[in-house]
Amino acid sequence: MPDELLPSREYIEDFRRAGHATVDWIAEYLANIREYPVLPRVSPGDLMDALPASAPDSGEAYDAILRDFEAVVLPAVTHWNHPGFLAYFGCTGSTPAVLGEMLSAALNTNGLHWKTSPAIAELERVTLDWFRQWMGLPDDYFGIIYDTASVSSMHAVAAAREMADPEARTNGCLPNLVLYTSEQSHSSIEKAAITLGIGQRNVRKISVDDQFRMRPELLRQAIIQDISSGRKPFCVVATVGTTSTTSIDPVSEIADIANAYNMWLHIDAAYAGSAAVCPEYQWILKGAERAHSIVVNPHKWLFTPVDLSAFYTRYPDILRRAFSLVPEYLRPQEDPRAINYMDYGVPLGRRFRSLKFWFVLRYFGRTGMQKLLRSHIELAKEFAGWVDEHPDFERVAPVPFSVVCFRYKGSDEDNRAIIERVNESGRVFLSHTALNGQFVLRIAIGNLGTTAKDVREAWALIQQAAADRVQVSERS
Ligand code: PLP
Repeated sequence: MPDELLPSREYIEDFRRAGHATVDWIAEYLANIREYPVLPRVSPGDLMDALPASAPDSGEAYDAILRDFEAVVLPAVTHWNHPGFLAYFGCTGSTPAVLGEMLSAALNTNGLHWKTSPAIAELERVTLDWFRQWMGLPDDYFGIIYDTASVSSMHAVAAAREMADPEARTNGCLPNLVLYTSEQSHSSIEKAAITLGIGQRNVRKISVDDQFRMRPELLRQAIIQDISSGRKPFCVVATVGTTSTTSIDPVSEIADIANAYNMWLHIDAAYAGSAAVCPEYQWILKGAERAHSIVVNPHKWLFTPVDLSAFYTRYPDILRRAFSLVPEYLRPQEDPRAINYMDYGVPLGRRFRSLKFWFVLRYFGRTGMQKLLRSHIELAKEFAGWVDEHPDFERVAPVPFSVVCFRYKGSDEDNRAIIERVNESGRVFLSHTALNGQFVLRIAIGNLGTTAKDVREAWALIQQAAADRVQVSERS
């Protein structure tokens, strides 16, 4: 570290040299990404053991820090950028986003209210509005960026609580509020209920049909029953693209019910909402024009590195009522065009997240994005076809997007052994779920670099692992 810091010439030149070397390193890393094992070959504690227990007393040179980054940190990285990363919702960053992140860190501008960073306030408005238009959502949706879908949905449930129980922020919430979602919805919805004092006991998990979609008639029955026992239904969360199978709840029918009982309807489209960028998929958000809020994560399927979750609500005033609390030291100037995002949620300080998203939207453009999303859906459909044709495997859910749920026609133990074998290869990383009480394998395609060759390789590894498993069982 140089003796004189900002803005000394030495400090800046030190950065320039290390910065160029780091960008070169990133370019090589991305160019050679297939050479890394997708999953790191480390045991818990390895990285901690390899680093000193205390921070250095004297500042160190970039060269030493970067050397240790490669030697110690990198071997413990799971490479979400790897084209063989086919687990969870496989997603990558992209180079325009890396540059956007770099500039955002360089500017270190913090959007508390408009004046603290007009660029944050207004670029967030613009990028979310562009994205809204791409998905075909109505123009009465107000957008705000949070870090994750979990936090976006927590804000949705808080706004729902505000609508049903305006005294909640002063007195604490009513004990009889009830939230409805499907048994296939993401755990973040239940966590929102925990966080906001609704309580797990007051979350109704509505059963799904044979395609894992919420059954609206059961939703209605549950609401009627709760009302008759003195409870207050206040919020329904529908999912477009559930985590396990990517099933699509019938949003329009659910909206009819939510509207009839004056409940907030939130749509969790964290993964699949991005598909609506393709006009032929906009039907998945039908009913959203009658919903109160929706979340879509560009950090899941839109080549934007973590974290960036796009939250939209048609009722920003209710969200604002739930969260606005302005001490004198934060009092902003009043101007109808100056948005103060601190009024619309828990965080005060906000990163300049929209900058990377702006780079991404401009770099790929709408048609570029459509081409990528369609190619992932195509690859998933092709994979599903191979599973369907194979006598020893079965598909266990429809494939509306880029995820296939399937299993080897054997025991759960067989399937566990197969996935472990495949993941040990370092070439591919698959994850699993449970459906109808069975252990199920999942392949999720969402990576910028994943090609037909990668998916074929994954399928070959899966078949080989199954064949090896048969041999082992026959021997024992
Ligand atoms: N909602 C759905 C449908 C998801 O699949 C996930 C994560 O996979 C989430 C919410 C949570 O996303 P995040 O990690 O951004 O909180």
